[in-house]
Amino acid sequence: MPRTKQQLPTANAPSGFGAAEQAEMQRLVEELDGMLNRLRLGAIREQLDGLLEEAARRQLNLREALAWLCAAEVASKEQRRLSMAMKIAHFPFVRTLEGFEFEAQPSIDPGKIRDLATCRWVANGDNVVLLGPPGVGKTHLEVALGREAVARGYTVQFTTAMELLGALVKAQQQGTLEMRLAQYAKPKLLIIDELGYLPLEPASGHLFFQLISRRYEQGSVLISSNRPVEEWDEVFGDQVVAAAILDRLLHHSHVVTIRGDSYRLREKRRSGLFRPQAGGSSSAGIGGEPPPTPTKEV
Ligand code: ADP
Ligand code: MG
Repeated sequence: MPRTKQQLPTANAPSGFGAAEQAEMQRLVEELDGMLNRLRLGAIREQLDGLLEEAARRQLNLREALAWLCAAEVASKEQRRLSMAMKIAHFPFVRTLEGFEFEAQPSIDPGKIRDLATCRWVANGDNVVLLGPPGVGKTHLEVALGREAVARGYTVQFTTAMELLGALVKAQQQGTLEMRLAQYAKPKLLIIDELGYLPLEPASGHLFFQLISRRYEQGSVLISSNRPVEEWDEVFGDQVVAAAILDRLLHHSHVVTIRGDSYRLREKRRSGLFRPQAGGSSSAGIGGEPPPTPTKEV
């Protein structure tokens, strides 16, 4: 950002300073500005006057003042890294673990999720498989865990199974499969949402297998599905390919199975828009369809 020429801080230019001293001080201010710019210390450069005044007010010694300035720069750089990495990750929305109501989904062990939030599994290149019917919070947890991984400095990419496989099928047709596979193999954590919701093209299983093999023991995959793994041969339309995919995916993995009601329908039920089914709980179990809803999902 272009910066207006700094005026000599009044604190540094007590009245009585001669023109020569004032000019020398101005030269120093400009030189420092140039050096901070060259060193890319943008936060210090932009807030220098305020930071120096604050350091003086706190009566910091030189070392303390230097640490204080560096801390401001580090905080600003970290903030920029975070917002850039969040953008690159392409999360569909913002969701956090703090915003997840564990009481609403008793089949989830909060301890297990908090353990996953440490991202040790990402460091180890392990996988996480989230299984459960629609609306139980799979995408919410994927985004929340993905954000934790970004915060810890890992590269993360979020995609849906449809988007991923669509891109791989297209790349194969255009002779650019190698490039696409390399691209999807790159992030330390690849999040693949909604496997099994829509039928896949016949070539998809092989392409998915190639991707999973490439990432195997290198980078982590966090995948969610509304279908239990026993039904993945139907999802991929090929028993052998599905077995090969599961073999690699599940080798070093944590499987979280969510059973229970859709959170969306629960909200609607609360507001009286939707009546519970006869017999109480409408728990659909994995792979089950949610009860019909009279209003559009949001
Ligand atoms: P799924 O991916 O399993 O279909 P989502 O994660 O998309 O479900 O959840 C649907 C909506 O309900 C989202 O807006 C999500 O944030 C919210 N949600 C689901 N479960 C919870 C929960 N236990 N606490 C808070 N919000 C939840
Ligand atoms: Mg979802």
